[in-house]
Amino acid sequence: MIRAIFYDAGHTLVKPRAEIDEVWDFLAHQLGIPIEAEHRGPFPDVHAFFYTRLGEDGLGNYSSNARARSFWTEYYSFALKDIAPDHPKAEIESAGGALYDWYAEPAQWQPFPEVIETLERGRDRGLIQGVVSDWGTDLLPILHAHEITHLMDFVVASAVVGASKPHRDIFLYALGRADVRAEETVYVGDSYLADVLGSRSAGLHPILIDRDGVAPKIDAPVVRSLLDVLGVVDSINDLGVK
Ligand SMILES: [Mg+2]
Repeated sequence: MIRAIFYDAGHTLVKPRAEIDEVWDFLAHQLGIPIEAEHRGPFPDVHAFFYTRLGEDGLGNYSSNARARSFWTEYYSFALKDIAPDHPKAEIESAGGALYDWYAEPAQWQPFPEVIETLERGRDRGLIQGVVSDWGTDLLPILHAHEITHLMDFVVASAVVGASKPHRDIFLYALGRADVRAEETVYVGDSYLADVLGSRSAGLHPILIDRDGVAPKIDAPVVRSLLDVLGVVDSINDLGVK
């Protein structure tokens, strides 16, 4: 019987408020240079950047505030490498750090439209609900500002517990917080590697959220909206999970 649902935060519960053009404006302003239209495309794939670093950094990119900040600062520097190739490295890093700090503000995030209704339905069913996220200590005020925390039993941020996804330790920590067993727990996230494989390695039931419908067929349930998660919980229960 499923007793708990744990959620990833970024791109599962909340997404950045700003469109990409506003982010380029921010960086141009920080650097004091124009960034022309042809350079204002999407940022490089952050997951690809993250996973190519695993060999260097192990699984600890988000295991402290300092590491989360340096990860994103390096990522933004990487994103700017062809745009401002002659710019002093220290200024590029400073602009990246400023963007990281910008995203620490609750106003830069917004919940997906179905989040509150989904969490209210889960609470009405008596389910334990929590957040397990690779994030700094700024996660809690962000979720609180968007009225998510009062529908959650706990929030676990990797920088607080010193372990980050996809490592199983962060999931095991959250199971302890919720006082549930892994097989009684569903985990919902938007990353196959961090969320599906990570939570499964700790014995939870993973669900991938794929709002754009672009995921290939995978070995886990896929939902297009968080409102569909409770239906997956029902089907897991129907299979007779003890
Ligand atoms: Mg995510």
